[in-house]
Amino acid sequence: MTEVNIQTQVERATRLLAGSRFAVAFTGAGISTPSGIPDFRSPDTGLWAHLEASLEEEPQVGTVHSFARDPQTFYERMKPLFQRIVTAGPNPAHHALADMEKLGIIQAVITQNADMLHQRAGSQCVIEVHGTLAEATCIRCYKVRPFRPLLERFFADGQVPTCKDCGGVIKPNVILTGE
Ligand SMILES: [Zn+2]
Repeated sequence: MTEVNIQTQVERATRLLAGSRFAVAFTGAGISTPSGIPDFRSPDTGLWAHLEASLEEEPQVGTVHSFARDPQTFYERMKPLFQRIVTAGPNPAHHALADMEKLGIIQAVITQNADMLHQRAGSQCVIEVHGTLAEATCIRCYKVRPFRPLLERFFADGQVPTCKDCGGVIKPNVILTGE
């Protein structure tokens, strides 16, 4: 989209929204990059370029099978992203969608993101198609817990979170390759 036709595109979107009976927003990584959460695919963001390079060397790190086999490596590789997400805040685009929902212009947000920034901006109806980092599940007994306190403990001691009930490894509720 060029600068010249952004105005035209916005006017077109406004007309479509004004004429719609049930509009939803669909968002991906791009809405959260201004909040400091790099798009996995952006070539020149240091964090992800680095992580992606390590994933290319060991592409199996992001799969559910390798998670079950070596959760410590998964948690260590994901740590920079987890830290970014914990400290990031919603940006004007997240707030605009929350306002549009309050005004009844859109009914819901469907997102590929697991960063919870739509909810933190005030969106009520958020459908997270790739899961959420708000919760985590024991891979043995499937008990679901809030992820944040477990994450804080991992940041402090570097130990993979385990289940108080059965001792199983706890996995954030995001979809990994192979699930
Ligand atoms: Zn368990």
